Amino acid sequence: MYTVFIAADMEGITGYVNWPEKPPEDSWFREQMTAEVNAAIEGSLAGGAGDVIVSDIHWRKQNIIPDKMSGNARLIRGSKRRLMWMDMVERCNMVILIGFHAGSGSAGAVLPHTIDTRIVRLTINDMVAGEAMLSALAAGYYEVPVGMVTGDRACINETRLFLPDVKTVVVKEAIGNCAALGIHPVLAVEKIRVAAMEATKRGLEGGFKPFQTREPVDIVMEFSWPVYAEALSLVPGVTRTGGRMVSYRGGWLDAVGIISLFINWVENMPGL
Ligand SMILES: [Zn+2]
Repeated sequence: MYTVFIAADMEGITGYVNWPEKPPEDSWFREQMTAEVNAAIEGSLAGGAGDVIVSDIHWRKQNIIPDKMSGNARLIRGSKRRLMWMDMVERCNMVILIGFHAGSGSAGAVLPHTIDTRIVRLTINDMVAGEAMLSALAAGYYEVPVGMVTGDRACINETRLFLPDVKTVVVKEAIGNCAALGIHPVLAVEKIRVAAMEATKRGLEGGFKPFQTREPVDIVMEFSWPVYAEALSLVPGVTRTGGRMVSYRGGWLDAVGIISLFINWVENMPGL
């Protein structure tokens, strides 16, 4: 059965422009995130998918409103996952990224960051990697291609550099890192539904290629503060290459494991 994996973040959802959008302010964004995910689910099924798995990937990964999600899909929620947000992609045939954002340091982008603002720069085999690239590589490792990405203009521009053929929907354009001109939320949902249907049809015909890189993988991580490099240098195989920098060479799953270890299990240092 052709199964679509939808990874959904919050920063690239229509209208979202700043952290923290806490309750009650974020309740509307949870609704809109759920609506954009539902559009991708319904579009995928209309395009010929037989099953959909959704991964909530923002912050504590508990944003999509479970009982408002389309009944045809299953939902992965909760943090501290081995592959950060791509676990179970190996069971799927195509990936859709909803609500994505540009990587750390991008100009003209809404809330650009790479997983966690403690990571200033991440490279994988000398490619500067944001979350869209990490998702594509994680899927590509299992021969699964990405077929569609939605988010702000900067995210789409970044993604097109390494996935030139994917379907895209731009829902907003940054005016600064915390401000944007957005399209109407209802229009965003409609565009996502149509794009997901077209992407799934093309995916079923083998129209997308998995994005892959060589192994062993070289990763370099630069942090906002030296203490984080100090922590990761305790992991066997990780080399501290500078005050705020570490590098690692090894298999893809081990490399992702090291990033996951940092994100999920190394605490924020008080006051930083
Ligand atoms: Zn996020």
